[in-house]
Amino acid sequence: MNTYSAVDVISAKRDGAALNDDAITWMLDAYLKGNVADEQMSALLMAIFFNGLDARELLTWTDRMIASGERLDLKGLSRPTVDKHSTGGVGDKISLILAPLVASCGAAVPQLSGRGLGHTGGTLDKLESIPGWRAFLTNDEIRDQLESIGAVICAAGEGLAPVDRKLYALRDVTGTVESIALISSSIMSKKTADGTNAVVLAVKVGRGAFIKAFDRARELAATMVSLGTNHGVATVAQLTSMNQPLGRAIGNAIEVDESVDVLRGGGPSDVRELTLSLARTMLSLVGIDVDPQSKLDDGSAYELYRTMIRAQGGDPDATLARGRHKDVLLSPREGIVQSVDSLNVGIAAWRLGAGRARKEDPVSAGAGVLCLVREGDYVEAGQPLFELFADDEQHLELGRTTITSAVIVGEDPVIPEPILLERITK
Ligand code: URA
Repeated sequence: MNTYSAVDVISAKRDGAALNDDAITWMLDAYLKGNVADEQMSALLMAIFFNGLDARELLTWTDRMIASGERLDLKGLSRPTVDKHSTGGVGDKISLILAPLVASCGAAVPQLSGRGLGHTGGTLDKLESIPGWRAFLTNDEIRDQLESIGAVICAAGEGLAPVDRKLYALRDVTGTVESIALISSSIMSKKTADGTNAVVLAVKVGRGAFIKAFDRARELAATMVSLGTNHGVATVAQLTSMNQPLGRAIGNAIEVDESVDVLRGGGPSDVRELTLSLARTMLSLVGIDVDPQSKLDDGSAYELYRTMIRAQGGDPDATLARGRHKDVLLSPREGIVQSVDSLNVGIAAWRLGAGRARKEDPVSAGAGVLCLVREGDYVEAGQPLFELFADDEQHLELGRTTITSAVIVGEDPVIPEPILLERITK
């Protein structure tokens, strides 16, 4: 491989040129080895943020991210593998329900997940509120559990796309997260390296999502579908609204409790609708003709969830934490709920203690918000809008002051927005 000057690569992208494959390969390899400094990679990321990557550059960039580490070998499993990825939202507990549900229909679901940062929650943080549950599995344990149970939700190993780990940490502190090229390569490098046959992407759009504008979310979805397909992974994306929180519960243990409600046949209708729609798409991608609704109704998805939690050391019967300090926010007036701002609710849950500001911060299992109204609901003056939970008074106060403006009550009739907005296929 040729050797390049990092400054020349940065300047070329800054001036709008397309980088050749060798230059991209060299830059990413050199960065992983520590031969390109953080400040140089930051400059390149910012140049990409403004000037983008064309289709060929993006494919090479993603290939090199995949090649920077190991690939999980899921060949030889007796069931087809299908994964799901969400671009992150408020109250998004779908993975907890979807993985056992789709496994109960006959697929294998390797859900390699992450932790929450800022106002969006993380699947691992939620499951860690179950006493004894273990997030870290070896590659052999992941394979064995997929073969014997069909579903695994665990931490993505350090070995998968390690350059993404470095790049993501850098993007987080340099204002370069919200780039379509960088988000799509980051997500699809991990989804390809995890060895799955197929993946369904839940691309969130709206107030509580990374991407607020519909057209950009559509572009992100189409870019990821094309990257997945080009890497031999059958990929479909569903654009879903994140203007108001998903379901009623926002936090860690509180979201596990709500997921169990759905697995037992109840729970909020938007969570059920989205989960079933994603499950149907996942199953159709791997050619399994089973109606997932029947697996919720007959209890087999819930049984599989219990087995999956036990296999990772968790006690599915444990009563989960709930913050001892509680408050209820009341509607100041009678009227119709015009909006429930998911960004505001997500920030409130975070300040109550459910989220973290830095990667190394601990999270509270019992902190969170129960959202008691949805857009279009009629409310009386003094009717409860939110219940807040925290481990201490200081956190409760922080959450309380944040959430006061999350709901707008007015006079106009409101037609609630659908949760499923568009489906993107190749
Ligand atoms: N999730 C990821 O894994 N990467 C991104 O860039 C954004 C969300």
